[in-house]
Amino acid sequence: MQAGRPTGPLVQGYEVIIGFETHTQLTTKSKIFSRASTAFGAEPNTQASAVDFALPGALPVMNKGAVQRAIEFGLAVNAHIAESSVFARKNYFYPDLPKGYQISQFEIPVVQGGSVEFFLPSTGSGQALEKKTVRLVRAHLEEDAGKSLHEDFIGMSGIDLNRAGTPLLEIVTEPDMRSSLEAVAYAKELHKIVTWIGICDGNMQEGSFRCDANVSVRKPGAELGTRREIKNLNSFKFMQQAIDYEVRWQIEQLEDGHAIQQATVLFDPDTGETRSMRTKEDAADYRYFPDPDLPPLVVSREWVEQVRSEMTELPRVMAARFVKDYGLPEYDAETLTQSKEMAAYFEATVAACGQAKLASNWVMGELSRRLKQEEGSFRRVKVHPIELGALLTRINDGSISNNAAKQVFEDMWASVELGPNGGRIINVTIHESIRVTDSIDATIARLGLKQMSDTGELEKIIDEVLAANAKNVEEVKAGNTKAFNALVGQAMKATKGKANPAQVNELLKKKLG
Ligand code: ADP
Ligand code: MG
Repeated sequence: MQAGRPTGPLVQGYEVIIGFETHTQLTTKSKIFSRASTAFGAEPNTQASAVDFALPGALPVMNKGAVQRAIEFGLAVNAHIAESSVFARKNYFYPDLPKGYQISQFEIPVVQGGSVEFFLPSTGSGQALEKKTVRLVRAHLEEDAGKSLHEDFIGMSGIDLNRAGTPLLEIVTEPDMRSSLEAVAYAKELHKIVTWIGICDGNMQEGSFRCDANVSVRKPGAELGTRREIKNLNSFKFMQQAIDYEVRWQIEQLEDGHAIQQATVLFDPDTGETRSMRTKEDAADYRYFPDPDLPPLVVSREWVEQVRSEMTELPRVMAARFVKDYGLPEYDAETLTQSKEMAAYFEATVAACGQAKLASNWVMGELSRRLKQEEGSFRRVKVHPIELGALLTRINDGSISNNAAKQVFEDMWASVELGPNGGRIINVTIHESIRVTDSIDATIARLGLKQMSDTGELEKIIDEVLAANAKNVEEVKAGNTKAFNALVGQAMKATKGKANPAQVNELLKKKLG
């Protein structure tokens, strides 16, 4: 890593350098080297086989599904998939590691290089998005360890080996991030990629996606500083807090004339501080060597091509298509591809109404707002995309105003109760869509929200508004546009929002000369 001009914001005159190691738990049903189940939450030690218990003579057998997921990840980040990679023993001593070593990949990992591209969070739809690329060093397959359970009430500790042997893909970046903001944006993008392609369930509470943040600071132009590694960050909020604290702490140390010691630290959400767990061990401490129980992992080019041909469209490819095919702004495309479900909902809505920008506004706006309020997700939506499409069609053909449509939407939303398995499916037939359109029109009629199409009636109301607002009328005649807008507002109010604003505008202009 070259020392050079700082590329991120300085903190008290220091440049912040961050690299990530992320452990993603793969979605295979069985473990990486045994046939025991990986399901979360079972009684301790009920999901561990002889291999996971490290009984003498039990030999590991590679799970093909784990390799397939590593290949999928490699392809998603444009990495090189090694034709032959090697499993190594990482030796260390810990009660939850019965073999006395962890099977991992060291010198030759299965996924090499690649990069993750993402946008930094912007402040609004008008803002141009700032793009950032973080280079990956590698992603390697390894097994998880077990878990120590400290049963304080009986004064004993136990070991649960259900998690031992759970397949992990550890994804390592170059030290390319320059702020906690960038680090969190990277982690969110990585989370999006692995859940999108389905290799990880992304459940951070259950530990399926855990990040280690390596943090150092330096004066601009100086060599890289000594890093400290914050272990096991399992929420984006803690990630940001932990890095911010660590940066402040390191700067304080340096300013006080202390050198930073390389260390592994833990973040305590209760105090908001990081504290040292152990001074960092070197690779040499682990006495890595190739595991004689496992042959080299061979991945044929045919297999890679097979996996490539079956992969789903990636979020960034989909976002580019939304810009190109639907003419959406980059911001919209980026927002709509936050999750596969949201993107699918949007596309189904466009298919139903043919109005891409209107659909985008509603999916990002009204619908997201409602889901957020109820802590719902696009997996469980009360208004079907076909129904939303029908509603947007009525906005587009002038039957109702955008504001009136919001009331219809509220009505539709409130009238649906989600069952335990809730949600609606997105695949629907044309037949259904016709029925739905009818029911939308019925709702519009019931709520009395149909726009006034009778010009005579509208003219009458406008005349009344003009008579009642003589002062405004005078000001308009003197050239005051604010006063004109006030009259439009008055007229809309008098029609209870049922008039077409463009028509009101036009009539007012005509009447006022
Ligand atoms: P190890 O596997 O021993 O933890 P690596 O050298 O593979 O060590 O680096 C681990 C992570 O630390 C990588 O993500 C890397 O980008 C990051 N890193 C390395 N040096 C620094 C540094 N000086 N400051 C911040 N991050 C760093
Ligand atoms: Mg490390």
